[in-house]
Amino acid sequence: MSVRCVVLDFDGTFTDAEAEAEPFVAAFRAALADLLGRPIDDDWARWQATIEAAPGTYGWEFGGRIVAPATADPYVLSTTIGQAITREAGILREPATRSAILEALYQLAYLKTRTVFRPEAREVLDTLLERGLPTFVITNSRTDTVSQKIDLLAPKHRERLVVLGDAKKFAIGEPKDGWGDVPEERAIEGLSRPVLLHRGRYFDAIQHVLRTASCKVDELIVCGDIFELDLALPIALGANVHLVRGPRTPAYELAEMARLGARATAGSLRDLLGRL
Ligand SMILES: [Mg+2]
Repeated sequence: MSVRCVVLDFDGTFTDAEAEAEPFVAAFRAALADLLGRPIDDDWARWQATIEAAPGTYGWEFGGRIVAPATADPYVLSTTIGQAITREAGILREPATRSAILEALYQLAYLKTRTVFRPEAREVLDTLLERGLPTFVITNSRTDTVSQKIDLLAPKHRERLVVLGDAKKFAIGEPKDGWGDVPEERAIEGLSRPVLLHRGRYFDAIQHVLRTASCKVDELIVCGDIFELDLALPIALGANVHLVRGPRTPAYELAEMARLGARATAGSLRDLLGRL
């Protein structure tokens, strides 16, 4: 089997999410302290330690179910800590209100994020686009935001790269044309909850890529930094996958990747080039 088409995540895959999010985390914490009307440093440290000690237990909730581990990146971690602190403080008890208010604080803090590319980002994109394989970015962020960042990176053959934004890889829901063989969830050794696979918006985006590139799913490789958001659905569909490892990648995800055999690898962003 040879790879004929490439799908890339962007944030955290081509960028250094830890470095980019530093001012975001500071702004989010300040806004949360403002909401509670008191300092929250002790609560934040305590919840961060609790969550990091059990990354499978806590997470980014969508419709009452966990769709990504809390420790996936600083954005998910901050949101999860915010949920815990407000719940403990007995405020924003209505889930819809809590989500709406924390989302508003998130968006305000997000304005402060920096752009920090991984050191090899430019070289990897240059090489990918040079090879002439149809290459798509599928991202939860806005198309224009990510397009502007890629313009800054200025890879050669920039015009060959298509950005599909607002993909909502976290959203559990129906796709346009049904699920085919994709089961609703997947059990993973070492994780006490199931990984949810019915991410309808992401499914539609992948089908769009396969149609546009006239590519079969086993000729596709998907590269991302968060197993559940980026790779779990492509794996279920039969695609090849590459997980960009970070300091927070849980051991159970690496073990699961190893069990998948040759079609799944984990390593640096540059290691993606070895799969082509
Ligand atoms: Mg990412």
